[in-house]
Amino acid sequence: MQLRPPAIRGRATREPARATTVEPGTTNHHGQTVVRKAGRAADDLAGQSIYILRCKGCGHEYGEAGIRVHQRKCPKCDGGKAGLPVPEPEPTLFG
Ligand SMILES: [Zn+2]
Repeated sequence: MQLRPPAIRGRATREPARATTVEPGTTNHHGQTVVRKAGRAADDLAGQSIYILRCKGCGHEYGEAGIRVHQRKCPKCDGGKAGLPVPEPEPTLFG
């Protein structure tokens, strides 16, 4: 028999449905830090944005799709597969 506390519903304490693992400054448990969002989706990942990651171990920077950021390993020093090319910054109207 299990006793469970009653679920608290209808409160203003809703958490986001997804963890924000791609916020700039976030470091995943492989030591890869999100530098910034690059903004361009990879061709094979329609709808995904590319983020620039930097390895805490060796400083290597590379691109990766948002859905893969949390599990990314450094391609240079931790055996991860090669990163995506870092896209050029998109021109802005404020440049
Ligand atoms: Zn590295």
